[in-house]
Amino acid sequence: MPAPARPHRPAEPAGTDVLVVGAGLAGLHVATLLARQGHDVLLVDRRTTLAGAIRTTGIFVRKTLDDFPLPEEHLGPPIRRVLLYPPGMGRPVSLVSDRDEYRVGDMARLYEAAAVVAVDAGVRLALGTRYAGRQGDTFRLTGRDGPAEVRARFVVGADGARSSVARDLGLDRNRHLLIGAEEVFQVPPNDEPPTFHCVLDPSLAPGYLAWVVHDGQHAHVGVAGYADRFPEGLRRAVERFSASAPGLAGVERPEEVERRGGPIPVGGVLRRISCAEGLLVGDAAGAVSPLTAGGLDPCLRLSELAAPVLDDALRSGKPDALTHYSGAGLRGSFRGRLSLRRALSHVRTPVATTAAFTLLRTPLGRAAAGRILFGDRSLPGSPAPHAGAARN
Ligand SMILES: Cc1cc2nc3c(=O)[nH]c(=O)nc-3n(C[C@H](O)[C@H](O)[C@H](O)COP(=O)(O)OP(=O)(O)OC[C@H]3O[C@@H](n4cnc5c(N)ncnc54)[C@H](O)[C@@H]3O)c2cc1C
Repeated sequence: MPAPARPHRPAEPAGTDVLVVGAGLAGLHVATLLARQGHDVLLVDRRTTLAGAIRTTGIFVRKTLDDFPLPEEHLGPPIRRVLLYPPGMGRPVSLVSDRDEYRVGDMARLYEAAAVVAVDAGVRLALGTRYAGRQGDTFRLTGRDGPAEVRARFVVGADGARSSVARDLGLDRNRHLLIGAEEVFQVPPNDEPPTFHCVLDPSLAPGYLAWVVHDGQHAHVGVAGYADRFPEGLRRAVERFSASAPGLAGVERPEEVERRGGPIPVGGVLRRISCAEGLLVGDAAGAVSPLTAGGLDPCLRLSELAAPVLDDALRSGKPDALTHYSGAGLRGSFRGRLSLRRALSHVRTPVATTAAFTLLRTPLGRAAAGRILFGDRSLPGSPAPHAGAARN
């Protein structure tokens, strides 16, 4: 007689203290900080390698370089010079700082270095693993070996501008977005100092700018703006710009270039970025300067704010601790830049931009531009001593 069939009992999902979704800079950093506090952290990313599908130019501003010990060997030469071009690209306004202002990161190497630091700290990193949804404290993941479930006391949405975790937790979501794309290729050194060329022309980059960063090692040639205002689409806009981009005299664009691109949230930090089940960091939380569209500094700083809040909730067993993590107060640091972003979004014609350049050429205009480009403003949230983003 055959043995009676045992009732099928699905295996208990594996458990973790914190599931971090997204191994961009924000997710890698918050995961590392939590693991260093002794918590069990599972960090998942749908990318199969952190060296691929990069969505950023990787310009780090001085304040980030001062506060976070990024590995020197993965940073390009310092940049002090910015050239601002009006429509038509004639007669740029030149701004030169007496300090090193920017460095372009080799992002593939920086992500990989940060992943090594995370794993050394005890983070369990699962690449090629997509977050696919949530039911209570159980999260569905689709990995290399098929679907799996994991239970977590808290989830962190570090999954970028269009965060699924934000949606599933019922938190605020980014509604005000630009899109950007660029081509990246190696360049031979030239006689020019490393330069950030910015073209302000709404017919080319509606609502934002087109750029060339030439630091003597790589060129990044890109365009960003409001998606619905590119008459022929973003890709075509990059091609058009690339054909006449400034700062590339004598540079031959190779046949094969690396292409990067993605959405950029510019509505300021979202208000509701936490609940009893988890919280958001980085682009998922809208932590990007609405004016400059810089998100690398704010994403590191917001992770610095998020980690102690999660640590507190895990140790005390009181999920209420997470309610202290709110974007409402942080929005204040973006108020001025939000107003300027709104103003910029209304400049729709090259004629209006050209007129604005008349102001930009005055001492007052130059001083204002210098404050935006070389200013020290950022989110609160300085790293704890020895809390490096990718080292230590
Ligand atoms: C073209 C462009 C150029 C930019 N240039 C600069 C710059 O020079 N300087 C600057 O300061 N800022 C720049 N920004 C903004 C900056 O890159 C971002 O603000 C920053 O990288 C955000 O980091 P993050 O970790 O929050 O998100 P991301 O780096 O976007 O990381 C999110 C991660 O989540 C993963 N993910 C998403 N969904 C899932 C899922 N369902 N399951 C598993 N994994 C998932 C993704 O694969 C990704 O790795 C740029 C943005 C763009 C689009």
